[in-house]
Amino acid sequence: MKSVVFFFIFFLSLSLSAQQTYIYCGNLVDVEKGEMLSETTIIIEKDLIVEVKNGFVNVPENSKLIDLRESTVLPGLFDMHVHLESETSEDKYIEQFTLNDADVAFVAQAHAKTTLMAGFTSVRDLGGSGVNTSLRDAIAKGLVTGPTVYSAGKAIATTGGHADPTNGYKEDLMGVPGPADGVINGTAEAREAVRQRYKNGSDVIKITATGGVLSVAKSGSNPQFFEDEIRAIVETANDYGMLTAAHAHGDEGMQRAIKAGIKTIEHGTLMSEETMELMKQYGTYLVPTITAGKSVAELAKIVGYYPDLVVPKAKAIGPQLQNTFEKAYKKGVNIAFGTDAGVFKHGNNAKEFGYMVEVGMPAMEAIQSATVIPAQLLKVYSLYGSIDKGKKADIIAVKKNPIEDISTLENVIFVMKHGKVVKQ
Ligand SMILES: [Zn+2]
Repeated sequence: MKSVVFFFIFFLSLSLSAQQTYIYCGNLVDVEKGEMLSETTIIIEKDLIVEVKNGFVNVPENSKLIDLRESTVLPGLFDMHVHLESETSEDKYIEQFTLNDADVAFVAQAHAKTTLMAGFTSVRDLGGSGVNTSLRDAIAKGLVTGPTVYSAGKAIATTGGHADPTNGYKEDLMGVPGPADGVINGTAEAREAVRQRYKNGSDVIKITATGGVLSVAKSGSNPQFFEDEIRAIVETANDYGMLTAAHAHGDEGMQRAIKAGIKTIEHGTLMSEETMELMKQYGTYLVPTITAGKSVAELAKIVGYYPDLVVPKAKAIGPQLQNTFEKAYKKGVNIAFGTDAGVFKHGNNAKEFGYMVEVGMPAMEAIQSATVIPAQLLKVYSLYGSIDKGKKADIIAVKKNPIEDISTLENVIFVMKHGKVVKQ
């Protein structure tokens, strides 16, 4: 009787256990320890990593083998600053009048797929129309192919600020955009805008603390929020567990954002040494977006590509980003990987690694800034950000060893998201 029960349980468990996938990794980047492992096997069941073993272990008969013995395997990458809804083009400024939300949605899903194929299995979308949030849901349901998205919905600005959606319009089209549109003035509206985003399903909050390059407005760096307004946003966002990000080029606006408790400073272009110290003191992260800076500086040379008001800003601010990153990194400021993809072509996100390493960041740290650190900031490290037992099977591979040649990350040859191979 005992043995009958035993066999019954044995066969039941056999039939219940799903088919496993074994991945043989020539090299494996252990981002948690900051080490390169050789000859490792990852065992995956459904969407989860169930085991990581030394050496190439035998693959049972009913399991599948993925042979990456000639490759280096890494956890799926995070980009903490993308805009999936759009991409740079000469027509960009007119598209807001010509594209319907449905058009934006089709374009956005194409960008999402491109991003995933480039090895970025998770992204923080820092501002669109709200289509970005619907895209997140469509991807999560498996309706379209793309990375896991953490969406800000529509970014928050003050009147005439960098993310005021009616900048540059003729006056009768401007209207009076309010908190729901992402335009606030004063602390009450600041709170309202965050709560509206919570209601709309945003995961994170993005503000434009200073002027910006690509908005049709004169200043690319002036402060555009008072500290009490930012504080009201941060405190409200914290109530809902939403990570906060501030676009900032100018130093004064950056300081206000840091003191008010913003967690990530985007770009940080004209950051003073005093502000770097402040970031360390407050535990604020810099998201460098060097690729976007270099790209806008180049595109500004093409006559007519950007509106006249944008050109001098792009030429002045764009080339600064890599210098600022270098200084901030060397001073010990926390770095989280982010590119501002959309300002340049989606899928080129990994160029950023090269720019970071070029000015002194070790390759392993650059990889950690795109894996462990974002997962921790987004409070998803128990499931994402490294290749470990119990985590989601978000796994990529490249041909060469990225510690020796960081540019290999620009040629991702294998992508698995949630246990499903999407590129091989
Ligand atoms: Zn951006």
